[in-house]
Amino acid sequence: MTDSYPAGGAPYPSAAPASEALFDRARSIVPGGVNSPVRAFQAVGGTPRFMVRGSGAWLYDADERRYVDLVASWGPLLLGHAHPEVVAAVQAAAARGTSFGTPTPGEVELAAEIVDRTPVEQVRLVNSGTEATMSAIRLARGFTGRSKIVKFAGCYHGHVDALLASAGSGVATLGLPDSPGVTGAAAGETIVLPYNDAAAVAAVFAEQGQHIAAIITEAAAGNMGMVAPRDGFNARLAAIAHEYGALLIVDEVMTGFRVSRGGWAGHEPVDADLFTYGKVMGGGLPAAAFGGRAEVMARLAPAGPVYQAGTLSGNPLACAAGLTTLRLADDALYRRLDAVADRLGRLASDALGAAGVPHRLSTAGNMFSIFFTEVDVRDYETARSTDVAAYRAFFHSMLADGVYLPPSAFEAWFVSDALATDDAALNRVADALPRAATAAAGALSRAATAAAGARKSEEPA
Ligand SMILES: *Cc1c(COP(=O)(O)O)cnc(C)c1O
Repeated sequence: MTDSYPAGGAPYPSAAPASEALFDRARSIVPGGVNSPVRAFQAVGGTPRFMVRGSGAWLYDADERRYVDLVASWGPLLLGHAHPEVVAAVQAAAARGTSFGTPTPGEVELAAEIVDRTPVEQVRLVNSGTEATMSAIRLARGFTGRSKIVKFAGCYHGHVDALLASAGSGVATLGLPDSPGVTGAAAGETIVLPYNDAAAVAAVFAEQGQHIAAIITEAAAGNMGMVAPRDGFNARLAAIAHEYGALLIVDEVMTGFRVSRGGWAGHEPVDADLFTYGKVMGGGLPAAAFGGRAEVMARLAPAGPVYQAGTLSGNPLACAAGLTTLRLADDALYRRLDAVADRLGRLASDALGAAGVPHRLSTAGNMFSIFFTEVDVRDYETARSTDVAAYRAFFHSMLADGVYLPPSAFEAWFVSDALATDDAALNRVADALPRAATAAAGALSRAATAAAGARKSEEPA
């Protein structure tokens, strides 16, 4: 496929006929036309682009357009698309057989690599981040003999029933389910608190600490947009949990092996009992894990009584992709990722500043997002002050200029090593940003005009 992006930077048209045809067909046989909701572009409008190929920093869609990819499959593609060594490892593994339903050498190697890089002493491989957090919670409940879980509003831990309680501002601590199908009983054991609010956690433990099995938190929150833990928040969580005999589960599914060799724990070591991993550790194939202190992990079947299993867990192809990815992810790679993330964040912030768009660049290691707000973002409440209409305009301008951003205002931007070493890709992003910033400014001024008009019509005649 040739690069159909016109020289001189004229934008792609917003119509994408091949993607539109595929989306129509998909919607008739797949709910909403997608297999994971945020892919559907509902938060930004328009037709999702159906991708047919990826290479390095680039994604290619069904209309033969190419995009600089700042989503990286929502994090897993640390090296970029179709890295030759990862492809070769998967091909070689496939040729040896795709699954055995027995222990294999590859899963021992991957487990050893994880234990070497992180604080965990023992690790169990699973297939998705959702499975990892679900199993970690079951294990924490089995280990402590308690039922309640503390989570934070705006933190996402997969679509586990008990963790789909995020609760709006009015019901912050009631644990009301977010989704039909999640029973009050499942969500009722979940206590939802504001992120970065250690005092709220201490207060809840003072009241009902003896019933709480675990606190679960994202190592750095990335699913409400990027919001870093502040003022030793994670360490405070460990201290409070342990004071009451509860466990701390740090969810590193997004940050693990992305922000450093050892994940967020490499930046900020915290005395957590269990950690969950996913995304990068599968190198683009389905693999995830949970692990922690040997004493806790020993309660897991068949060593102990807490049941957990998986037909395809430790799959040889996924282990090959993950292991090859991790072995290429050395300290030098993380320095390149830090540098490129820093550069992109500053470019975006400068472009928005020049266009007069109020914004906050919110970073955590080499992950970042931009909030279209004047408020200091520290939790879900403040994250939601972002102007989604401004993001929508910004997103579609970038898309038209051949840059693929997350199709939601509440997501992190993900860099890859392929991007860090591709000047053509970086230049395309730099060229696209000023136009997108102008588009965002336009959306904000249209909203301001409409609001002024509405106020005027409410004035008594
Ligand atoms: C993506 C994610 C999950 C869920 O992982 P899946 O593989 O999508 O099930 C859990 N926790 C965090 C922090 C995540 O970012």
